[in-house]
Amino acid sequence: MPQPRYDLVFLGGGCATLSLLTRLIESGACNGKRFLIIDPLDKKSNDRTWCFWEKGSGYFENIVHHEWTSLDFKQSGFSGSLDMGRYRYKMIRGIDFYEYCLQVLHASGQVDFLQDEIAGWGGEKPDSQGEILHLTGKKTGKIGVKTDLLFNSIPPDLGKKQPGIVSLLQHFKGIVAESDQFNFDPNRATLMDFRVSHEAGTTFIYVLPLSNNRALFEYTLFTASLLTPEQYNQGIAYYIGKFLGVTNYKIIEEEFGIIPMTTQRFPWYNNGAFNIGTAGGQTKGSSGYTFQFIQKRSAQLTTLLQNNSDWSQLKPTLTQLRGDAERFHFYDRVLLQVLASNYCPGDQVFATLFEKNPAHRVFQFLDNETNLLQELQIISSLPTWPFLKAAIKSWR
Ligand SMILES: Cc1cc2nc3c(=O)[nH]c(=O)nc-3n(C[C@H](O)[C@H](O)[C@H](O)COP(=O)(O)OP(=O)(O)OC[C@H]3O[C@@H](n4cnc5c(N)ncnc54)[C@H](O)[C@@H]3O)c2cc1C
Repeated sequence: MPQPRYDLVFLGGGCATLSLLTRLIESGACNGKRFLIIDPLDKKSNDRTWCFWEKGSGYFENIVHHEWTSLDFKQSGFSGSLDMGRYRYKMIRGIDFYEYCLQVLHASGQVDFLQDEIAGWGGEKPDSQGEILHLTGKKTGKIGVKTDLLFNSIPPDLGKKQPGIVSLLQHFKGIVAESDQFNFDPNRATLMDFRVSHEAGTTFIYVLPLSNNRALFEYTLFTASLLTPEQYNQGIAYYIGKFLGVTNYKIIEEEFGIIPMTTQRFPWYNNGAFNIGTAGGQTKGSSGYTFQFIQKRSAQLTTLLQNNSDWSQLKPTLTQLRGDAERFHFYDRVLLQVLASNYCPGDQVFATLFEKNPAHRVFQFLDNETNLLQELQIISSLPTWPFLKAAIKSWR
């Protein structure tokens, strides 16, 4: 039986794939093209909330659920309102994102979906109609498809500890809670509140008000191991009781997440696939923020694909595509080393960063968008010895 032919095949159909394919289809540059997405999930649940800072309007502006014009930072030694400059802190709900993107994809009539979990894949030498890709699906078994390009966003397995790699887990429990006793300003959020127990390691809470009586509380840790489910719940309840004086509230929604924070480098291209999303290294090692890095990469790839109609010839050009400047990976390694080795407690690192620098400079730095002068201003504001020690250890 002849293999079906697709212009692009996507393994994994989450944030990275949907961001890229939605942009591509909406760009109008892929008339007549066919796409295949393989994912075990149908993306119909609100499984995550994306928050990020942004200047002006972003590509997914029409599905931004809430945005904050003011941000606070709280820690035992430094508390204050952050100077965000032209940045706004924004929230997109997973379900709104999935619904929006899937509606665009379905309406195009150009996308096939296969609900399966891929256990492995490999290519075969190209024929006149593109490379034959052999996939092994857990449900479907062996599948052969022809495709010009393969994009992979299956989350990487970080289970195996590799020598020389510094890793932490960013793990968090979030609840959307509602109470008549809350009295929030819906324009003002708390980016980091470190006035919680640090017994397990770097721990803080985000408070993101959605109205005057409803907020998302995100109890977050940067540590090597997870807590028990009860410990996250206790952490949130303690915070709401002690700092907001509220004990009676209703939980409307819950989420739990683990984001890898690691010095491990993820290849852009391997085993015949271009890796996107977390699999492609778009999770910032030192902060866990990913959404905006995915958007940057998606925009870059969309432009490239838009400008080249023959995608079967694009592999060599795509392989050459570069990410952010190498020095940003070094900064990530140093910051992760400081946090993982506890050379300086995490709350002090972030308090110093935000006390001595305007938040807009810190945001720009964490987005890998600063110039050397701005980086020097950030570096010189940090405690010298812990960072010097970490820099020496991270040099390679
Ligand atoms: C709960 C949560 C909250 C987050 N909040 C933020 C935030 O506020 N800001 C931010 O910047 N980042 C955040 N992140 C990090 C990051 O933005 C998300 O993880 C983002 O979804 C990463 O996009 P992705 O496409 O790489 O992975 P995903 O969106 O996870 O997509 C990967 C897809 O691969 C599928 N898959 C898995 N295994 C297979 C397989 N074997 N075969 C086929 N398909 C497979 C999965 O079902 C999934 O749909 C959060 C992460 C989580 C988990």
